[in-house]
Amino acid sequence: MSSNTPATAHKNNTAPAAEGEEHKVSNFLRQIIEKDLEQGTHAQRRWGGTPGDAAHHTAGQPDPAKIRTRFPPEPNGYLHVGHAKSICLNFGLARDYGGVCHMRFDDTNPEKEEQEYVDSILDAVQWLGLGWQSQCGGKTEDHLYYASNYFDFMYRAAEVLIEAGHAYVDEQTPEQMRANRGDFGKPGIDSPFRSRTQADNLARFREMRDGKLPDGAAVLRAKIDMASPNINMRDPAIYRIRRATHHNTGDAWCIYPMYTFAHPIEDALENITHSICTLEFEDQRPFYDWLMDRLAEGGLINTPPPRQYEFARLNLTYVITSKRKLAQLVNEGKVSGWDDPRMPTIVGLRRRGYTPESIQLFAERIGVTKSDSWIDYSTLEGCLREDLENKAHRGMAVLDPVKLVLTNWAEAFGSDSYLEACTQPALPHRAVPEGQTPPADRTFQIGKEVWIEREDFEEVPPKGYKRLFPGNVVRLKGGYVIECTGCARDAAGKVTEVHAKVIPGTKSGTPGADSVKAKAAITWVGVADGVQAEVRLYDRLFSEAQPDAGGKNFLDALNPDSLKVVTAYVEPSLAAAKPDQKFQFERHGYFVADRADHGVDGKVVFNRVTGLKDSWGK
Ligand code: ATP
Ligand code: MG
Repeated sequence: MSSNTPATAHKNNTAPAAEGEEHKVSNFLRQIIEKDLEQGTHAQRRWGGTPGDAAHHTAGQPDPAKIRTRFPPEPNGYLHVGHAKSICLNFGLARDYGGVCHMRFDDTNPEKEEQEYVDSILDAVQWLGLGWQSQCGGKTEDHLYYASNYFDFMYRAAEVLIEAGHAYVDEQTPEQMRANRGDFGKPGIDSPFRSRTQADNLARFREMRDGKLPDGAAVLRAKIDMASPNINMRDPAIYRIRRATHHNTGDAWCIYPMYTFAHPIEDALENITHSICTLEFEDQRPFYDWLMDRLAEGGLINTPPPRQYEFARLNLTYVITSKRKLAQLVNEGKVSGWDDPRMPTIVGLRRRGYTPESIQLFAERIGVTKSDSWIDYSTLEGCLREDLENKAHRGMAVLDPVKLVLTNWAEAFGSDSYLEACTQPALPHRAVPEGQTPPADRTFQIGKEVWIEREDFEEVPPKGYKRLFPGNVVRLKGGYVIECTGCARDAAGKVTEVHAKVIPGTKSGTPGADSVKAKAAITWVGVADGVQAEVRLYDRLFSEAQPDAGGKNFLDALNPDSLKVVTAYVEPSLAAAKPDQKFQFERHGYFVADRADHGVDGKVVFNRVTGLKDSWGK
């Protein structure tokens, strides 16, 4: 996937969002928008005041923003990587075509919604680098909306439908209603309440509103066609009775609009031009359009009405993108919380070490289509590596430490306690973006004892092994060339120390550096200045590429090895990290200082973001 995309467009640039448009790959939505702009489809639209105002749709100036999109989450959970696709798409299209994208909470369901989710969603969108503010005539406009602020308007729209004979109060039981809806092969049966008079319907609907009927005793239904081949058109319910305290409107209402009714009205009230949603809403589009026509007839909305367009949702291998299932992982303690670094939530990705730029790049790269497909997880990781390659400072860390003792140290340098400073670039020359000054070098100390990776010593080397074994010569990266002499073992035979001799005059960066040929260079951390760190080695949360496909229980596919915690040693520049700071641990991959735990009580905590190379194909 990444091989045939214009990756170079984003190379050496930390903010793909700011790129020129020539790099944007076209797609069916861009084509639709470009055609609308060319034909002036939305040029006559009026825009003024606050959505929901009575005057809103009759007064106002021609909308200078041209296109309006929206991102309409329901505040009933944390956003995930699938939502990120939708956010980047909607805000990105508005940005690219000089339009506006509305941040709107679809908060019409009083039972499941909470302020905590509202706050986390706003935070996630902002963190992604996308905002709901726009500039208009020198003024900043704040396009943050709540569907619940339109409840008055929605109620009025329902009465207008009733008065025009397009809605009725149905008092069948839910079971009767379900049975009479029919199915794919069988047309529905008219409710006995379908032929009520307008006056009757209006009176009964007002009784619903005034709390005269118990919860579930009646619903308001659109009167369309009980024989429609599209079941969504068989008189869908548009209002229900539910006594529940709403996070925004409190106890002002005991009836609430259904999503299918509320959503098109929200779009219309906000003068949305392109209402972009995922494919599962395709069957709802006829109702969306039906409602727009009725509202226009009733003089309630501006024309042309918004149009709904569907795109394929993001399916990512090894990942679950269902709020309900993600909540289950949290509630059953399978992960530590919504921000567990293994979670595909935006807070999880952030804590794992993903950058907003890498997620935007990912959204751009996967594109938008009209047919469902699966994206390989390695595509997301590839975008991260690409973003971090030029940003993440390098550093050495030893994740599986064993002590290396340079037995001739005092002989070579006069004292066992002698320490010598070594320097290495924070970014290799090739990774410094053109025209930028390279960051300051890192400094660390070499002494008689250093930590090395346990796997870097073999008493009896396998074929082709180039690292430490008795008689072999290797370089301690950025330090001296050494010759291995042997090791010490405990009673169980485990290596407790590796022994070697330092070869003076061979330090990196000095004239004698090449005087002795080393077979390999190994990473290390000084015992004198190395700092102990907790390193959390994260792996995929699921062992199966499609953990919830075909009715499988996704919990059965949990990877038991998705988290391994090790005690490591890191060089001083890494220990000084600030929470959220990303690094490339040489040879190990990309790591981030944990945003919750790093620095707390002096602890040094890193999360593995990803390895240096794609390991998902294996
Ligand atoms: P979930 O299925 O996880 O509960 P949802 O669709 O119910 O998600 P909403 O809050 O309604 O959650 O989603 C807000 C927007 O995000 C919707 O427009 C929806 O189409 C979009 N969206 C949700 N999941 C995905 C996905 N996997 N890929 C792309 N867009 C998505
Ligand atoms: Mg939804």
